[in-house]
Amino acid sequence: MLQTKKEKISSVKGMNDILPPASAGWEWLEAKVRVLMARYAYRNIRTPIVENTGLFVRGLGEVTDIVEKEMYSFEDRLNGEMLTLRPENTAGVVRAVSEHALLYDGGKRLYYMGPMFRHERPQRGRYRQFHQIGAEALGFPGAEIDAELILLAHALWQELGLTNVRLELNTLGQPAERKMHREALVRYFEQAIDRLDDDARRRLHSNPLRILDSKNPNMQGVIEAAPQLRDYVDSESLAHFDLVTSILDANGVAWRFNPRLVRGLDYYNRTVFEFVTDELGAQGTICGGGRYDYLIEEIGGKSAPAVGWAMGVERVFELLNLKSQAYPLPVPDAYAVLPDASVIPSACVVLETLRRAGVQVQMHSPSTPGAGMGSMKSQLRRADASGAQHAIIFGMDEFERGACVVKSLRDGTGAQSERRLADAAAWAASLIFTSNS
Ligand code: ATP
Ligand code: MG
Repeated sequence: MLQTKKEKISSVKGMNDILPPASAGWEWLEAKVRVLMARYAYRNIRTPIVENTGLFVRGLGEVTDIVEKEMYSFEDRLNGEMLTLRPENTAGVVRAVSEHALLYDGGKRLYYMGPMFRHERPQRGRYRQFHQIGAEALGFPGAEIDAELILLAHALWQELGLTNVRLELNTLGQPAERKMHREALVRYFEQAIDRLDDDARRRLHSNPLRILDSKNPNMQGVIEAAPQLRDYVDSESLAHFDLVTSILDANGVAWRFNPRLVRGLDYYNRTVFEFVTDELGAQGTICGGGRYDYLIEEIGGKSAPAVGWAMGVERVFELLNLKSQAYPLPVPDAYAVLPDASVIPSACVVLETLRRAGVQVQMHSPSTPGAGMGSMKSQLRRADASGAQHAIIFGMDEFERGACVVKSLRDGTGAQSERRLADAAAWAASLIFTSNS
């Protein structure tokens, strides 16, 4: 029979597999995040990956990069609803909080981790499926919560050993203040129309603030000289900003005022911030956030203040990978050497006992391609290559006496000692490698 070779199916462009051993880094980071979130009393929330398209159109604003060109949207074939793969998670969190009336008994501190989807040109630090970790505090109007969230992100960089990250801050004021600034901006850009690119001209009347966010190098001059929002922000917003910065100062967290920081989404007011690095080229923002007191109302919920941030996990890893040994790679505590197939059933009982006691055990499998049962020597070579601290050798002679041999593989001594199979629960703890526990 003639076999035609089937065409290979590969992953979708800009969407990556996360494989071992790199996936161990992800687990390491996620574990650090969980510990840290708990220290600040932030609780986990998990919302669906698919939401109604309208949630993002209304939540993020129509004249934003995401809504204009980056959303993966499709029609539900059964009922014709327009749905979208979430491009970010703040809108989803806000929807869930409002839908379940989570704020009925006061503010909520929440965090999430998960994949987001944006149809962008894939490049270093920019993918079509990427991951965000985010924290949101809803129901709190005070500046101390803005500061708490910034301190939380700052603590995360410290936990991860990231040093070259700087904090940029701005205040966007309140809607009325932004409106006055917006009018001044439109007047200014109208007079400079021939120095604007097509994108900017298109946004001049729909969303002039977005022009300040432009990455076009030819427009940096005209942006530099534009009217500054700071001159329109009233004293209450300034006091809010002062409290944020004085908490940061008291904690020795360095920051830089960046009046051009407006963020890519419409929903922010008052405090906005980004953590940036110079080590990742153009994709240097690893975390961004701010206050969004009007978003809940915008999507039809009961008005409530809120503030939050989201970090790009891939970018954090790119930064971590510039350092060697950023995180430990997993190794088993013990590798089980089984020179004779007849011992396998009983040996497995011992290994299960060890695992219940917390020992990480990798068993030699005679069906490993290319390995087979192999000699004791070749199994020991595999034990060594696994990185395990110990080999547990189920040799025939010892096995018949109800024992096995534990051999130390990493301390240079090669020390061996005989252990009773029946007492495995008692000697299990001696196998646990401290950095695995
Ligand atoms: P950028 O200006 O780089 O496009 P953004 O303003 O669109 O970023 P946010 O919507 O604020 O980004 O998302 C928060 C973080 O998520 C970003 O700071 C970045 O670290 C990360 N991020 C955003 N888009 C991507 C992407 N396509 N691939 C990887 N990470 C991303
Ligand atoms: Mg973007």
